[in-house]
Amino acid sequence: MRLIIGLTGGIGSGKSTVANEFKELGIDVVDADKVARQVVEPGQPALAEIELYFGKDVIDQEDALDRAKLRDIIFKCEAKKQWLNALLHPLIRDTMLAQLNAAKSEYAILEAPLLFENNLTKYTKYNLLVDVNEQVQIERAILRDGNTKAQIQAIMKAQLTREQRLEKADYIIDNNSEDLNTLKHNIKILHTQFLTLL
Ligand code: ADP
Repeated sequence: MRLIIGLTGGIGSGKSTVANEFKELGIDVVDADKVARQVVEPGQPALAEIELYFGKDVIDQEDALDRAKLRDIIFKCEAKKQWLNALLHPLIRDTMLAQLNAAKSEYAILEAPLLFENNLTKYTKYNLLVDVNEQVQIERAILRDGNTKAQIQAIMKAQLTREQRLEKADYIIDNNSEDLNTLKHNIKILHTQFLTLL
């Protein structure tokens, strides 16, 4: 079994930034959020099933899933939410595992904001946390998404706290500084360490 390293951190912590550096080093990265979007892309069987169950209303002009509408519906109806989860969760898991299996690099990375929360750690050997303090996290998330502080804080509420993550992680990368060269350097050191774990 290939070595799989989990990569996590709160919203705006710098997961994608760190993941991109590992990709530069030739490491295959599977992005859990991306997989969750891929399985409901136009043409995917799951999207057809969703349309059958929820009706045309959840499909937009471009034949894509109207996520906001679907979110509204399942927020109001527990049974519908359960139906959707029963459809998507196994599919997302199988697709994620297939992508990890197909990875060709020495080790592979599973990038997921909810790595700990969703128990994805059962697929990873070690877990790397991108750590920033909450002030930096909120500032960067606002800057990137144009969301309000309240919206970011609402998302943060559904995620583990910084302390809880720090406790669970095997490796920690500090992304508080804006010095991206130091970040790159630290990622290289981690990469070398991971290679010794093979
Ligand atoms: P995540 O994937 O964890 O949500 P991103 O990698 O998208 O986070 O980073 C959030 C935002 O902060 C992005 O706009 C990114 O360019 C920026 N960012 C990430 N790391 C740094 C850093 N060290 N200094 C300044 N900006 C950063």
